[in-house]
Amino acid sequence: MQPVPTIGVLAIQGGVREHLRALEASGVNSTAVKTREQLSRVDALVIPGGESSTMDKLARTFELMEPLREARASGLPMFGSCAGMIMLADRIVGAIEGQESIRGLDISVERNAFGSQSESFETGIVVRGIREPDRQFEGVFIRAPWVLEVGEATDVIARISSGPHEGRIVGVRSETLMATSFHPELTADLRVHELFVEMVRNS
Ligand code: GLN
Repeated sequence: MQPVPTIGVLAIQGGVREHLRALEASGVNSTAVKTREQLSRVDALVIPGGESSTMDKLARTFELMEPLREARASGLPMFGSCAGMIMLADRIVGAIEGQESIRGLDISVERNAFGSQSESFETGIVVRGIREPDRQFEGVFIRAPWVLEVGEATDVIARISSGPHEGRIVGVRSETLMATSFHPELTADLRVHELFVEMVRNS
């Protein structure tokens, strides 16, 4: 039997607890990651939702940004939801001045893209690669970004399927990185976390 992986959740800002719970429920060990030392001991990392500009600033203040970039470059699988997606994007539209990211996903992401009419909403979406893919996933969007553009080595795994934002890209993955505009950790549905766990087990 394969050993049970330990997946960390970056715990400097944002919705940490919900991801820890969803990971445990998905059959792996989970742990909060606040230091370089803790980062060096996990098999993968989740970057939660929150406020990407604050998360970026704190990551640099705590001298975690370079270790995060090194871990990513060495192939540590990472999954970012919402602000976490922004933290993994190579290009950010609507960044505050000086805002940086870990980078690694060849995407352009637009912050707060859904506009004030739909700052927070829920909608069913089809997510490629999850268990029972025909059953829609309840996407919870909170001042969410969307993906404007995707590089060649990046797959689109989710789009908005109806309404005014139909077709907008809200989920992507590359070989070791995955990101969603929505918050799977805020639903009881574990299929997106399970998809990430599968990526981690295969890496
Ligand atoms: N709007 C936030 C940002 O740009 C993301 C919101 C979220 O993570 N729920 O960082």
